[in-house]
Amino acid sequence: MAPATRATLQQALVQALLSRGIVQRAELERLYAELCSALQIPPELDGDLAAIQPRVAAVGLDVRTCHDPVSAAPFVVLINAKADALAEAATPHSPAELQYIKALVDAMFHAPDHRFAVSSTQALQMASQMQPPMTKHAASELLHSLEHRGWIVLSRRTGAYSLSLRALMELDTYLRNEMDECVLECMVCYTIVTVGEVCSTHDCRGAVHTACQDAYRAGHTQCAQCTQPWEPRPVGEAMASVD
Ligand SMILES: [Zn+2]
Ligand SMILES: [Zn+2]
Repeated sequence: MAPATRATLQQALVQALLSRGIVQRAELERLYAELCSALQIPPELDGDLAAIQPRVAAVGLDVRTCHDPVSAAPFVVLINAKADALAEAATPHSPAELQYIKALVDAMFHAPDHRFAVSSTQALQMASQMQPPMTKHAASELLHSLEHRGWIVLSRRTGAYSLSLRALMELDTYLRNEMDECVLECMVCYTIVTVGEVCSTHDCRGAVHTACQDAYRAGHTQCAQCTQPWEPRPVGEAMASVD
């Protein structure tokens, strides 16, 4: 097959990832199969994902795979590999709005009982505490914009905002640097936990995702961090009560 044709396929793959940001692996496979069939090229998704890596890296992006913290469904995500990912998340917003987004993320990670979520009421109240204060209307618009662009998720059940899987991937470095003492890392897959279980020993940060808990239990009866019996408490927005 002519190299130019595979290059066309890889360019289409880059476009598909750029336009979606994050995509379920299963959906990407379907889309990719259609492209291969249209261009009459044998499919080799993993090879092509590896091949586009240097191209996206040249513009500060990175192709990563991750999994849903509850269902374990695999996703492919195109993330901003630069450390100032939070500033990019705020684009096209003002410095004042960026301050609000930082305060919102901070409140999520400092929420009691490892909820990793902020009620919509609290999110709006925070607007008036900003310097200079933001109107509730402006905060509401910003929250909708962040939700629409896939950075935060509003639970219809609890009315609380939490970070999306994409935001967790993209803000990984920021969260580990800035929220260090509040970040829980999964003892199975080593990514940040906001939905799952945490060790019940006081101050122990041994944690696993909901999707990783069976794998952890299969290999451990104790917490790998504090060596106490593994009797975890739930972590995440599921803990949140309706305001
Ligand atoms: Zn995990
Ligand atoms: Zn522990």
